[in-house]
Amino acid sequence: MDKSNFTPPGITTTAANQAQKAMGDRPTTTTNTPHMREGETQLTLQWYGNRENLDVRVIEAPVPAIAEPTDVICKVTATTVCGSDLHLYNKEIMQLQRGDILGHEWMGVVDEVGSEIKNVKKGDRVVASFQIACGTCKFCQEGLSSMCDKTNSSSVQEKLYGKPFAGLFGYSHFAGGFAGGQAEYVRCPFGDVNLLKIPDSVPDEKALYLSDIVPTSYHAVQCADVEKGKSVAIWGAGPIGLLAAKWCMLAGARRVIVIDKVKERLALARDTIGTDIINFEEENDVVAAIYKLEPEGVHCGIDAAAFRYTKGILHTVQRAVGLETDSSEIVNEALRAVRKFGSICLVADYAALTNQFLIGALMEKGITLRGAGQAPVQKYWKDLLKKIESGEFDPTIILSHRFHIDEFRELYEAFDKKEDGIMKTFVQTRFSGPQAPGTPALSSFKAGDVKPSAVV
Ligand SMILES: [Zn+2]
Ligand SMILES: [Zn+2]
Repeated sequence: MDKSNFTPPGITTTAANQAQKAMGDRPTTTTNTPHMREGETQLTLQWYGNRENLDVRVIEAPVPAIAEPTDVICKVTATTVCGSDLHLYNKEIMQLQRGDILGHEWMGVVDEVGSEIKNVKKGDRVVASFQIACGTCKFCQEGLSSMCDKTNSSSVQEKLYGKPFAGLFGYSHFAGGFAGGQAEYVRCPFGDVNLLKIPDSVPDEKALYLSDIVPTSYHAVQCADVEKGKSVAIWGAGPIGLLAAKWCMLAGARRVIVIDKVKERLALARDTIGTDIINFEEENDVVAAIYKLEPEGVHCGIDAAAFRYTKGILHTVQRAVGLETDSSEIVNEALRAVRKFGSICLVADYAALTNQFLIGALMEKGITLRGAGQAPVQKYWKDLLKKIESGEFDPTIILSHRFHIDEFRELYEAFDKKEDGIMKTFVQTRFSGPQAPGTPALSSFKAGDVKPSAVV
């Protein structure tokens, strides 16, 4: 999993952008071209990567204005960086453009509403779903907000997958080209659909994570068929893997095994959530280690790592020279470790093509392999807000640090290297309130006070 010795394949962004231009945009029912307010500025995190460098920058930029009557403009009070942002940082997602504002996990206060907005008003505290759903297409009507058919203009994605997923905040033009939430202001298209009001009893430090990781981890556990009495193995102890482990425990799983190599993360899984752990740097045969704990294999597997993590030289080389975009190593481990007629859910991002996929185990063991898809946040978020409000589920178990938006560049670098015990962060802006009791105090890279958090 050490990626320092290979160059990411860099799915050719230039070629993808050229293809999009040649094919033209897919029709959508909202624009991705923002209007701007006169004379107001804000801090934003923008992508400036090129072939050689990983590069994001905090840049002063104009403030978005209402562009459609269904828009809402929010002042951001909380944002963060997500594991999937690291795919953008590492240039592994097609159709990025220099100057794109990143970030898909954010919340804030409503600052201005379009003329057709009914559900929210100026001053409301709201969290945004990472997906931008129209609320009226067939998929939206079925509650599958992440699969909205009317908000993603990427013809490249349509060509590659057959149909694209919904537009996403701050996730390249492959996901619709919308400006993201690592900023002080965000334009939220279809604000009546994509914003959820938050009661005063729930602080930003808990509500923020309803935008992605709380519903995504919950969705993964549903897709993996986790039930009372079953055993589960989870690859990847990042925020999704750890919160999924917690949902598995709450669902009554008999045993949950978390696999990773980052010691602080494994310690959190074992000590705070109560799972078994496997450090794959110490156990060179993860499958054998799982069978030692569960002689029949685990009922359910959840891949919460990612396509970019390769352990063996075979996939490292293939990714480096562009023979595959995605490694099949973890899926293959899961296929071997899961019980006959068990199930596997892929919640980690996979982008395109893989080699040496163990299709024989999939068929012969009768395994159900399911892609979670981008989680339909809006299907779950009201119920999950209640679980947070009641205290049944506390997303701050993985919250390790708080930073100010002007240190986003340093944060990306440290998060990518998994340094300083950084797990899940809370990024504040000039509009944020004071820190909620029991959550991490403000840290600063520039002041040199970033230390592994007491939480981990
Ligand atoms: Zn995310
Ligand atoms: Zn829709």
